[in-house]
Amino acid sequence: MNLLLCNPKNAQGTTHSRKGMYVPLGILSIATELKNTYQDKINITVIDEDIELANLNEFGQYDLIGFYSTTYNYPTCIYYAKIAKEYGSKTVLGGPHASVLAKNILLNQSCFDFIIRYEGEKPFLDLVGQLLNNKKNYDHIPNLVFNNQSTIVFNDLHTTDLKKVNTPSREFINIEKYIKNFEKLYPDKIGIRPGSIYSSKGCSWRDKSGGCIFCARLEQGVRCRTIETIWDEIKELKNRYSVNSIWDISDDNLNNLEWFFKFTKSRPKECNDLSFFIYSRVNFISEQTVQCMKELNVEEVFLGIESGDNEVLKNSYKGQTVATILKAVELLKKYNIKYFPSFVLGLPGESVSSLENTYSLCNKLADLGGVDRLGCTILQPMPGSLAYQKILDETDFGKKIASLDHIDVLHLEKFWADNFTNSNYDTLLKYRNKITTSIKGLKVFGNEEE
Ligand code: SF4
Repeated sequence: MNLLLCNPKNAQGTTHSRKGMYVPLGILSIATELKNTYQDKINITVIDEDIELANLNEFGQYDLIGFYSTTYNYPTCIYYAKIAKEYGSKTVLGGPHASVLAKNILLNQSCFDFIIRYEGEKPFLDLVGQLLNNKKNYDHIPNLVFNNQSTIVFNDLHTTDLKKVNTPSREFINIEKYIKNFEKLYPDKIGIRPGSIYSSKGCSWRDKSGGCIFCARLEQGVRCRTIETIWDEIKELKNRYSVNSIWDISDDNLNNLEWFFKFTKSRPKECNDLSFFIYSRVNFISEQTVQCMKELNVEEVFLGIESGDNEVLKNSYKGQTVATILKAVELLKKYNIKYFPSFVLGLPGESVSSLENTYSLCNKLADLGGVDRLGCTILQPMPGSLAYQKILDETDFGKKIASLDHIDVLHLEKFWADNFTNSNYDTLLKYRNKITTSIKGLKVFGNEEE
């Protein structure tokens, strides 16, 4: 069987500070499981259009094509899947967009034979097993959604055991291309060769509180990979690809403090020279955690600061205040660990006065130092987020879009700004431009995605 796993390019504009620098770990994990199980019964090609464009004329070579969908690239997925169907290939759609809007997609499109919701390793293995054996017993395949005559069948959900899943192999992609993209955007960071990994999935804050209003991450429950496996993966990145900076893309690296301390203590000597870029909630930054970060050689921490206004932070279920934010950044500065603050404009109740507070906080952080880049974006109520659900539940516009599969992100962004803030879209744009152009000494990214 010839299989293509493809991450199609975005069709709706968004760029971020690390686009084309992260290898597609989810796709690589599926490819690795498939290769380990089916060996030479399957040829796997991975195309990540953040890096290189797919040749659509070659789609006819593949028996099965899997597309990774986000709300940004979904229109491209439809376009590509229609071409794949013309060639007679089978198609499967996964990714966050498909996970949330599976029913709408199958009701509105005929170009997807299967949808896989949430994690794809086990469902993909089972699906390929059926196709290889010319069988059609799809009912037992977890996370699968498909049309059976005129009925849409939703199979039971399954969660991947991260302790059993294999380390994603990089043999399917050219890691150098990702490193080159980093060097292009950050020409001043000479000699840094980043490599991304994930050590865990899930966010303890989302489990506890329901999550931040704009968060569209889908994993429930915090699951960590085994420490030994992660260090083996890091050693491999260092030895085979000369990576010297590890980017851990987990939702929150300090979700499980006991795990984080243990992970740091278990570092093999040969990894002492590697630096780390990690994510953390502000509230987890303490003297103890920062000391541990220092020991791990954490160079920069991504912090979702979001706003400089306490009322707006509270309305967004952020669980942090300006005081806790300042305490965290001062602690990081004390230990000489850089941080990458990210702001979201247009949170519930946002007003000119709260925007001014955010602008002041950005300037304050720049004055305090310890930061050399910053992200600032306008809230995008993506499918899967509480904000999107609010639009569906509380507005007539929500009733109109409830059955759609393609969501116009810019339209939604404007609708949210004009209806769920005490300001409007034009004012948010004005403040975003002010922040992205006038904070002295910082590289500012206007469309940072978490
Ligand atoms: S935005 Fe970050 S902290 Fe908030 S719920 Fe999502 S992953 Fe957790």
